[in-house]
Order: sequence, then structure tokens, then C-alpha cells
Amino acid sequence: MPLTLEQQEKILTPAVRRLLDVLDADARAVGGAVRDTFLRRAVFDIDIASPLPPERVMEVLAIAKIKTVPTGFAHGTVTAVLDGTGYEITTLRRDVETYGRHAKVQFTDDWQEDASRRDFTMNAMSVDAQGALYDYFGGEADAKAGRVRFIGDPRQRIREDVLRILRYFRFYAFFGRSNPDADALGACRDLASLIPTLSAERISKEFLKLLSADTPVPSLRLMMETGVLIAFMPEITSLDRLEALLKTEKANAVALCAEREPVLRLASLLPPIEADARAVASKLKLSNRDTEALATLAKLPEFLEDTDVPQTLHRLLYAYGAGNCRAATLLKGGNVAPALDEISRWKIPVFPAKGEDIVKLGVPAGPQVGQVLRALEKWWIDNDFQPNRQACMEQAKQIIYNGERSTGK
Ligand code: ATP
Ligand code: MG
Repeated sequence: MPLTLEQQEKILTPAVRRLLDVLDADARAVGGAVRDTFLRRAVFDIDIASPLPPERVMEVLAIAKIKTVPTGFAHGTVTAVLDGTGYEITTLRRDVETYGRHAKVQFTDDWQEDASRRDFTMNAMSVDAQGALYDYFGGEADAKAGRVRFIGDPRQRIREDVLRILRYFRFYAFFGRSNPDADALGACRDLASLIPTLSAERISKEFLKLLSADTPVPSLRLMMETGVLIAFMPEITSLDRLEALLKTEKANAVALCAEREPVLRLASLLPPIEADARAVASKLKLSNRDTEALATLAKLPEFLEDTDVPQTLHRLLYAYGAGNCRAATLLKGGNVAPALDEISRWKIPVFPAKGEDIVKLGVPAGPQVGQVLRALEKWWIDNDFQPNRQACMEQAKQIIYNGERSTGK
């Protein structure tokens, strides 16, 4: 059955059409992009599959002068770069022997075989260059009904790759509408204890994606009830703060950037203790940036208690940045509008003195310069960032003079 023109336009973009054309022999768009087209969601990554072996894919793209990167050559994936966007092109495969992520792959030219190694029916559809849909397992109907359904026997599919438990709850968080399938849920419950055998990177990538869903709570609640959450995140014992955060976000029509939101949500699920946040970040092998954000969000909301005084908020903005302060305000909850307004309005000032200014005043280059600079910055902050450069220089002289007097120089 062909897609409607509107659906075709979404998935068969000029770049995708060009790639399908260059790959020729029955290449198709596959996976999440096809699913999202049916769900009228924005389509971001468009993956392509083709029966051509990876070295042939490299060749035909080179002839067409399209840049390629062999991102996962051994398991058949080549990334084509077109107009600055990457498109993964994967050779059709069957998984012969699966042990976790390291499935031994065999290439095939059978589309149904390739579809059957995918996880859920809604993720196993494909669309060809003419806009014809191939849906081997009833994925369209499942997607539209909000049914996340394993292809094949859930237990077996989870044993092949335990990550599929987390993927189940992730897709349920995004698309689930009906009650979850009892058999699938039972399989997740029974095999949850295998989750810690997965690498931290795979766990955290799926979990953070799950947290970025519009309504992650029902899925998280199921994860709690089935013992899935405790298997890898025993630190999470309540969803109350996340629920409050989502309410506050909704009431204030706030949308954080997509990168920050999952970390904020994770912070809302953890006890507000910096050391605990750092331990979780290290367990999940989060990036340095996310680790710092999580650690900051464990302590910052408490500092925000009296932000009716804009000066307190200004200090925190200067120390932690607007993004962290906005996130911490939402986490703190209550009447957040005045603080959010002030955060958007106030321009974080730049400290008007540098080390070389202090050296010019006669302080020898070395640790003393830093000491003077820090004392000066503290004075500037205490004066609500008002003193300009000239006033700062005058104050620096004073600090140096006082320092010399107290050390008797
Ligand atoms: P998103 O839009 O969030 O990226 P997606 O469906 O594209 O969703 P990916 O994780 O990018 O999800 O995976 C791409 C496709 O690869 C999936 O749609 C699915 O068909 C297949 N897939 C990915 N991981 C697995 C897995 N662990 N087991 C089976 N199939 C998988
Ligand atoms: Mg994807």
C-alpha cells in the first residue's frame, strides 16, 4: 500500500530520494522514520537499508560523489553525508548468533528477514522510492493503536539482547496508549536481573531517551512495578518530584532544550545530594557536562529558596549559568514565574578585571595575582556586579595596599 503524498514528502525528502536513487537495487527508508511518519511526529534521522554489501555501498556513493564514513562497517553500516546531514545506510542482515550487542551478522537480500531481527513491529516497516509501504508484522496498526509489540517471542528476543527491555519501556513511554501486553511485561519482569550485564553506555543512552518522552511517568511506574528500574537504578525510589516538575513545566509552558531536559528529569528522580548525583553519573558514565549539570541540580534548588531577592538569584546565575538556574527553578517548583522572568531578563555580566591588570599594578606574576583577583571579584559580586572597570581598578589598589600593610611589606 502506498503512503499518502503528505507522508511521502516527510520521509522521501530530496536527500533520501537521491540516496535511494544512487543505491538503486531496492533500497528503502526503514525503522523509526517510517513509524514516526505514521504517527505524524517530526522525522529526524532517516535510516536507509539496502541489499548491497557495505563495500558496494561505499563504491556507488563514491561514484556519485557523496561523502561516506564507514561508521559500522563490520555490521554493515555506512554513513552517507548529504548537505551536512548523516544518513545511516545498513545492509540487510539476519542475526545468526546473538550474544548481547555483538550479534554475529550475516548479510541477506531478504527484506522480511531483516525486518524480523528488529525489535518491535512498529520499528520494522520500510518504504521504497515509489512510496510503497512494506509492513511485515502489522506495525502500522500497532503504531496507530499505541501497541508496543515484540516481533516474535518476547523472552527469546530479550535473551538475545537484554537492552530490548529498556527499549520496550522507552517506546512504551513515547507511543504506548493501550495497556501493555501482559506477556511482554512478564518477560521484562522475569529477565530484569540481566540488565546489569549491559554496558553503562547502552543503559544510559536508552534511559535518558526514555526520560525525554512527553509523559514518561506511566512507563516509569511500570518499570518500578516490574522490578526493572530497581535492577539498574535502585537510587530511584519515588516519581513524586518528577511528576511535580512536569506539572510546573506545563503550567509555565517551559520547554528546555532537548539536551538538558533528560538530565533535569533524572535529577528530579534522585535524592538531592550532590555525592549521590555524582555516583549515579559515574555509574551511567555520563559526559562531564551532564555530570556537572546533575551535580549542580542536586544542590542548586535549595540555594534558590529566597530568590525574591534578585541579588541572590544574580549570584547564582553568575556562578552556575542561566541553563542550570532555569532547570533548578523548575525543580524547586512553587511560583516559578518571577524567577524565570528574571533569569531571561538579566544579562550575566563579565568580570571587568584580568590577571594582567593586577600585574600592571605592581603585583608580581604568580599566585598572589589570583588572590587579589578573587578578592576583587568577591567585592564586585557583593556590590551586585555594579562597579565598572575603573571602580574595580581603584578597589584592586586598595586590596593590594591592605594586603601589603597586613603582611608588613
Ligand atoms: P529514534 O527515533 O528514537 O532514534 P529509532 O526507532 O530510530 O528511534 P534506534 O535506536 O535509532 O531507534 O534504532 C533504529 C532501528 O534499529 C529501530 O527502529 C529498530 O528497527 C532497530 N533496532 C535498534 N536497536 C535494536 C535492538 N536492540 N534490537 C532490535 N532492533 C533494534
Ligand atoms: Mg534512530
